[in-house]
Amino acid sequence: MLAPFACDPALSRGRRFFQSPAPTRTEFQRDRDRIIHCTAFRRLVYKTQVFLNHEGDLFRTRMTHSLEVAQLGRSIARSLGLNEDLVEAIALAHDLGHTPFGHAGQDALNECMALYGGFEHNLQSLRVVDELEESYPEFNGLNLSFETREGILKHCARRNAELINAQEPGGVAARFLTGMQPSLEAQLCNLADAIAYNAHDIDDGVRSGLLTLEQLQDVSLFARYHAQTLVEYPSLQGRRVLFETIRRMLSDQVYDVITATRATIEKYTPTSSDEARQCPPLVQFSAAMYEESKALKSFLSRNLYRHPQVMKTTDGARAMVQELFSVYLAKPQEMPTAYAQRSDVPRAVADYLAGMTDRFATREHARLNASHTK
Ligand code: MG
Repeated sequence: MLAPFACDPALSRGRRFFQSPAPTRTEFQRDRDRIIHCTAFRRLVYKTQVFLNHEGDLFRTRMTHSLEVAQLGRSIARSLGLNEDLVEAIALAHDLGHTPFGHAGQDALNECMALYGGFEHNLQSLRVVDELEESYPEFNGLNLSFETREGILKHCARRNAELINAQEPGGVAARFLTGMQPSLEAQLCNLADAIAYNAHDIDDGVRSGLLTLEQLQDVSLFARYHAQTLVEYPSLQGRRVLFETIRRMLSDQVYDVITATRATIEKYTPTSSDEARQCPPLVQFSAAMYEESKALKSFLSRNLYRHPQVMKTTDGARAMVQELFSVYLAKPQEMPTAYAQRSDVPRAVADYLAGMTDRFATREHARLNASHTK
């Protein structure tokens, strides 16, 4: 079932700390299970994707987003002969390092950390599974296999890649220095991430009333399937029109990735996962779909992510993160002991803050403000 260019768990480059194989599960199944049971994973329920967590019960959260990425990724992986378990593990872990309050929170924390080495959410996801989870007696983190960690570290600034590579020569950050690609499973997760958020942000955008179907006619990928749906079901109304349109958009993109990727794989014929890493990116959209997906993404960023109403709530969130950061930096004793005792105070503050859910950060902000004004 597994294609020769897929990651084979039996050939895994292993874990940072040796552990004997599990009797019934492969290494990647084990990684997936560890991720599902970790604390950071449960926090995703209360972390903002686009709309703040308390704005409505039906909007995507980081958790439901991650589940959708895993579903799309697994579905494509199966048809390409890639490793579904690895795709699922990477997808479920890919957003573990996100701050509360979505991109506003991340930008704020990045600004706060500018003088102290910066903050990158992909790298933070790796820090969560490598260092911050406290689940095991013998080591920090979840001790995941190389291939899952490689997929989690999707982007990484050169400066950080050099630091990680110094600690782990030839490890997960080496490719940012050598220009190699990650595994095909990791490449697939990046694409599944974009397919998922482009689709669900249309749904959430329309649900919130910030996007209209008329506006979406400017997006060719949407307009095409919207028209097709109305031709096939002329009397269909309301939600079902939107859902059917999004369903068709999703299928089209999934089949497009499968077809385009089969073609690049045929062209480069990698015979192992390592050979696939040495090729150009192989998991991809067709050129036409790439353009349509890019147009949709830029539509969403113009009309939804930068919508005045979204900006207004995220501005408040940004201020909250900045204020929390300066209080903890000045008074580390306000953090739990494990963070307060660390010698690198700014990084301890960033780790603590990044781990917070939206509502925990809001409560903490209120608590510190109250004690401040007493
Ligand atoms: Mg994501």
